[in-house]
Amino acid sequence: MRNALGLMLASVVAAVVIAGVWFWTLSLHGNSPAPQTVAAAQAALLPANPAKSSSPRGEVETTGTIPDRTPAAQAPQPKLACANADAIGVARVVEIDTTGGPGFGFEHFKQLDFLADKEVVLTFDDGPWPGNTPAVLKALADECTRAVFFPIGKHATYHPEILKQVAAAGHTVGAHTWSHANLNSKKMTEQLAKDEIEKGYSAVKLALGASPAPFFRFPELQHGPAAMAYLGSRNIAMFSCDLDSFDFRAKNAEQIVTTVMTKLDKQGKGIILMHDFQKHTAEALPTLLRRLQAGGYKVVQMKAKAPMQTLPEYDAALVKDMRLPVASTRSVSSVVQTVAQ
Ligand SMILES: [Zn+2]
Repeated sequence: MRNALGLMLASVVAAVVIAGVWFWTLSLHGNSPAPQTVAAAQAALLPANPAKSSSPRGEVETTGTIPDRTPAAQAPQPKLACANADAIGVARVVEIDTTGGPGFGFEHFKQLDFLADKEVVLTFDDGPWPGNTPAVLKALADECTRAVFFPIGKHATYHPEILKQVAAAGHTVGAHTWSHANLNSKKMTEQLAKDEIEKGYSAVKLALGASPAPFFRFPELQHGPAAMAYLGSRNIAMFSCDLDSFDFRAKNAEQIVTTVMTKLDKQGKGIILMHDFQKHTAEALPTLLRRLQAGGYKVVQMKAKAPMQTLPEYDAALVKDMRLPVASTRSVSSVVQTVAQ
């Protein structure tokens, strides 16, 4: 009995000592959950080819208003260990101040040239979609790297669980209108363009259960002047691209890899436009990421300084719309009657 009491007392003392050491360790490391986790996350962030550039992370500014970045702010979320020692990873994370609606991608915007030689940004449009988006997510996870996704609002309402996986993997999620309407067509009015933009964001927010980034890509890269002015007034950054993969018209995965690598080797860097909606893109991605890594390219992830502020009236209208299909509870036989056969 005395031995048992002694053992219990020893256990309690040991537990107190362990808790004390743990608390002391935490206070030394700020918010870091545990030293091993931090080390693993840093390993995942190591550039695959450190010899190619001497530019330290955070040195290149995107908008001129980037605040000092602490290691915690730079680390992609969530912090994941990378099992692949040869992964391309994420070489740099940049934070974008979207005030006034800055534009990115040299196909339309020449002002903000923030990528260093051999740096790329991976972007994926038109999801979320079963099969293809999860395959894209797996390919990115296998290489411990991160991208920017521009989902279609309608697709987000069809497959919210897939879009949640995109965000949970630490990727940046923007928006790409409600129904992929051409905002530069003759029939497009300012009100319709506003509805497409705002409903798209509200749909993505509803699917995620959290606000997306105020990052926007025009469907078909059709930049309507009125829509651009509106996006600027809403402090939403506009994304064109430097390099179009034309994956939507590729006959197979190999063609996508060839197109991207050929353009990239010529241009040296850039924001790459792809579609997680496309099957061939999902198939091409493992090879493409390997080729990028072998070619000395580095992935830059773009994040927003502040989340998108959706408009409450669009959030409310969307929730109302989503409920409409279940408004009728009548049975089929009470609605449809065979009167002649
Ligand atoms: Zn699109």
